[in-house]
Amino acid sequence: MAEQLMPDPVVDLSDVRELARDMVVIPNPGVPLVPNIGVIGGRHSVLVVETGMGPRNAETVLAFAADYAKGRTLYLTTTHFHPEHAFGARTFAGEATYLINRDQAEDLRLKGPGYVEMFRGLGEPVARRLEGVELGQPDLVYDQAHDLDLGGRVVRLRATGRAHSKGDQVVEVPDAGVLFTGDLVEAGQFAIFPWFPPHDTDVSGTRWLAVMRRLADERPRVVVPGHGAVGDAQLLADVRDYLQLLRDETWARRDSAMSEETIVEEISALMIARHPEWAGREWIEKGVGCLCAEHDAGS
Ligand SMILES: [Zn+2]
Repeated sequence: MAEQLMPDPVVDLSDVRELARDMVVIPNPGVPLVPNIGVIGGRHSVLVVETGMGPRNAETVLAFAADYAKGRTLYLTTTHFHPEHAFGARTFAGEATYLINRDQAEDLRLKGPGYVEMFRGLGEPVARRLEGVELGQPDLVYDQAHDLDLGGRVVRLRATGRAHSKGDQVVEVPDAGVLFTGDLVEAGQFAIFPWFPPHDTDVSGTRWLAVMRRLADERPRVVVPGHGAVGDAQLLADVRDYLQLLRDETWARRDSAMSEETIVEEISALMIARHPEWAGREWIEKGVGCLCAEHDAGS
């Protein structure tokens, strides 16, 4: 990842789309490290999902949300602690109530500073976005699930348990059948495995697969992925099926004592043949690495 030149990860307001009544997405325009950002309204309050990376992106999102809210109370949540999702939360301090799950709050506190440093190494445009970044502190923390009443609309925040990160959560708007998944789902690209031993090995392929099985069974009408185009429940099934195949094919080869290097070669060829249109091929290798470690640990 570090050797690629990353474009400026700027949040772009030119293509804001309505997802349902009083709910919009600021879509990720196909630029890496820009998330899909949600703004969900109720009678008296508005919830923002994700901040964009760094203070200037967050200022853009906050200004948009304040304008959208027209005096309604602002809340902020983030799906997980990764920089483009949560490293703008400080900008919302005093303007919005920042609400997240406990595991994510721990991730932010323990791993946030290291991720600032790691992401600064991704090139000058990303480093510039992180200039002056201060990590946010949640105002409210929940353990497993929290129902947030926006007035005539209840949003369900749920911690999924360790998967793409240690502290993932999903954000569901039941009256509209909309699910914000964060990086548990990326549309049009291979699942992002932030497998960076020895710095970060919290991603779990097996637990992620279990989470995707549960979410896919719920069949939401609209799925807003962490990155890529908004879709439907098929996006959940696609990630579930990819993770299952990745695990099964990796473990079958590991059982026959194949080297990790050969497994990476074979699985990459297999997956690229299966999904030739998907971006992010470098994440296949990280996924194999993670699943080899989980196999060897007997999980
Ligand atoms: Zn992420």
